[in-house]
Amino acid sequence: MFIESFKVESPNVKYTENEIHSVYDYETTELVHENRNGTYQWVVKPKTVKYEFRTDAHVPKLGVMLVGWGGNNGSTLTGGVIANREGISWATKDKVQPANYFGSLTQASTIRVGSYNGEEIYAPFKSLLPMVNPDDIVFGGWDISDMNLADAMARAKVMDIDLQKQLRPYMESIVPLPGIYDPDFIAANQCSRANNVIKGTKKEQVQQIIKDIREFKEANKVDKVVVLWTANTERYSNLIVGLNDTIENLLASLDRNEPEISPSTLYALACVMENVPFINGSPQNTFVPGLIDLAIKRNSLIGGDDFKSGQTKMKSVLVDFLVGAGIKPTSIVSYNHLGNNDGMNLSAPQTFRSKEISKSNVVDDMVASNAILYEPGEHPDHVVVIKYVPYVGDSKRAMDEYTSEIFMGGKSTIVLHNTCEDSLLAAPIILDLVLLAELSTRIQLKAEAEVCFFCILMGPSCFGFYHHME
Ligand code: NAD
Repeated sequence: MFIESFKVESPNVKYTENEIHSVYDYETTELVHENRNGTYQWVVKPKTVKYEFRTDAHVPKLGVMLVGWGGNNGSTLTGGVIANREGISWATKDKVQPANYFGSLTQASTIRVGSYNGEEIYAPFKSLLPMVNPDDIVFGGWDISDMNLADAMARAKVMDIDLQKQLRPYMESIVPLPGIYDPDFIAANQCSRANNVIKGTKKEQVQQIIKDIREFKEANKVDKVVVLWTANTERYSNLIVGLNDTIENLLASLDRNEPEISPSTLYALACVMENVPFINGSPQNTFVPGLIDLAIKRNSLIGGDDFKSGQTKMKSVLVDFLVGAGIKPTSIVSYNHLGNNDGMNLSAPQTFRSKEISKSNVVDDMVASNAILYEPGEHPDHVVVIKYVPYVGDSKRAMDEYTSEIFMGGKSTIVLHNTCEDSLLAAPIILDLVLLAELSTRIQLKAEAEVCFFCILMGPSCFGFYHHME
């Protein structure tokens, strides 16, 4: 059975006019390696970690600024939210399709809240805590291309044509703000797009981003802003002692206009200085050590390493399942071909390398978790190939072959083939990320041990937020 909303009645939860105060005992364990009568022994000791959450119940008017607003993801998300807000439906060859938020954890998933007369009761995820309604978000952002959002939506070729016609009047007057462009960090094939760029030194560019955020906030009368990077994948920045390893060195490098500070790090720096949450949806190492330290010092939210919307998400789930079932994946081979601008940018070796590293990391934890299956240092062969095939556009093909060793030397091979518009997978995830980032700025958490609140809430779906600790 499904219920729309609920209230908790518990000695551990207090609702006041302005906040929800709750106490939660997290039952976990602690391991000690003890010398008992001359032999070392692992001892597991149960422990209770006490959490206190204070959630500001006031839902703000939220502004979301996208870096790469005119890209496939940016234009698809903007159009999708407008279509939901305006109640737009459109004719496809199959049916009349209404707008929806399918693919969004917060908007389209449910959680079990208990049982009633022996029947399981489910409520929407979004009813857990007061959250911003995506229909109310005001969008803004930057792009190094000055194409208006209606033309950008047409260029993306993601939305059905009848929907595009209905969305055009809402989107044709929207032009992204100029962005920070550095040809050294993205593929050379992107330079023809870069006609809308912020001039000046890196420090001046950061100052411009701060100014843009303040002006956007003022012009749209929003209470809060969240910034999310959905621009092109950059190459990795070199981590260099004296350059970006500490807060002081990073800020001094900014003053010296050091070439190795990437555009994504500059946007993130501006956000941390403004105390605006910054989420990274691409695989590059935006969060260099100096930036992470600054975010911690200023208690400013940063997070994210690639959206992991399709093949990589499936890989995390499948490898978790296989290794968890005592089956030993020995070869994981993933081919992708796609024909959108992301695919074109990833055809350069440096940007592809960022994607490859991020896609490869997802099996490491599971392999490390099972020493019965894997010898120390042993790892499955794991190969990722991405090819740019313009004809398929945003409709990405992902083909995976998982070969595993099973009982008594047997082999099992699983083959997956997924065809899907990449941006229709990413857009609802972007929505979740900004909504949860906003929510987390309203949650204060006091804990006896440092455990991620979103890991408790979302399990493996947690995107790895750094968040507020009292
Ligand atoms: P896209 O190429 O269509 O859009 C990127 C936009 O960013 C372009 O409009 C470009 O002009 C702009 N841009 C580039 N550098 C910029 C800068 N420094 N400042 C401002 N704007 C800049 O790509 P997309 O398909 O929308 O994907 C966006 C990102 O999300 C890519 O890095 C991609 O790898 C990542 N990603 C996407 C998915 C998915 O679509 N399912 C999944 C995981 C990660």
